[in-house]
Amino acid sequence: LNTTDLIEEHRICVCVRARPLNKKELTTKDLDVITVPSKDVVMVHEPKQKVDLTRYLENQTFRFDYAFDDSTTNEMVYRFTARPLVETIFERGMATCFAYGQTGSGKTHTMGGDFSGKNQDCSKGIYALAAREVFVMLGKPNYKKLDLQVFATFFEIYSGKVFDLLNRKAKLRVLEDGKQQVQVVGLQEKEVKCTEDVLRLIEVGNSCRTSGQTSANAHSSRSHAVFQIILRRRGKMHGKFSLIDLAGNERGADTSSADRQTRLEGAEINKSLLALKECIRALGRNKPHTPFRASKLTQVLRDSFIGENSRTCMIATISPGMASCENTLNTLRYLSLDGEG
Ligand code: ADP
Ligand code: MG
Repeated sequence: LNTTDLIEEHRICVCVRARPLNKKELTTKDLDVITVPSKDVVMVHEPKQKVDLTRYLENQTFRFDYAFDDSTTNEMVYRFTARPLVETIFERGMATCFAYGQTGSGKTHTMGGDFSGKNQDCSKGIYALAAREVFVMLGKPNYKKLDLQVFATFFEIYSGKVFDLLNRKAKLRVLEDGKQQVQVVGLQEKEVKCTEDVLRLIEVGNSCRTSGQTSANAHSSRSHAVFQIILRRRGKMHGKFSLIDLAGNERGADTSSADRQTRLEGAEINKSLLALKECIRALGRNKPHTPFRASKLTQVLRDSFIGENSRTCMIATISPGMASCENTLNTLRYLSLDGEG
């Protein structure tokens, strides 16, 4: 398989987004080691030391479909990533958009909007921006005559288990029938009539996600959140857009943790992110050895990967600080989607 083909068919779009240095990084005088010299290149200035202890910077360059610097708004990121995929679901296709990166790099900010502080605002996240576009498209003559209905689901995958964020975290079973059709049994699909309906569901789901947790980030860093917009025509699925706020990719380090539960969670996350990479590489090709079953995440997204008209977009979020350099390089390497790593 050659991923270049997939990119030429516009099935995959891979982007990177750097956030600004945050307060903590500014306080600790962390240095910004990221530059975006052109609209599709990101450069990491990795600090190194020679044997004789002289310090130097090793500049590493990575090229993507788009690279967004720390002044880029969510709106702008959306325009080049998820927005082109909205049309796919009107054309009976399956669209998927992932945010991938270490904890604290901006995945939730990009996908869900601003949940930090008191003034929670999910209207600027990609979930909401995509939903808004769906309702605009519904009004266009070509699509209006199809008489489509819109539904939303919001669930979380934590340690290989599925929980419904629109139904008080009810634990759900995933079943696969003889024809490899995957079903999340009992998952609530709420009908939505306007963007405001969607915003309300995002708020409900998000507060459900973080409720009872001592630290919102500690929990969300270990779980994948999946928000879906589903178009139905006379009850039958017409198209589906899955937007995914992935678990922090730094969790690999947990595999050496002293705590058994933490270790297992870390291993599960590693497994799911590796399986995800394989499934994206096989996008739309239903190759026999694609490891959909290797993780709950890829299993529940199976139908989004195998369709004739499946498209996906990966947004890697990176922290700009020197302290995050190693995680940032891991993120950028994962994104190159080739090789074994
Ligand atoms: P993650 O979900 O990857 O763990 P968050 O989205 O929670 O990370 O981001 C961590 C912090 O950084 C939050 O306080 C968030 O508001 C802030 N942040 C993230 N991305 C940006 C950005 N592009 N611009 C400004 N602040 C950001
Ligand atoms: Mg988050």
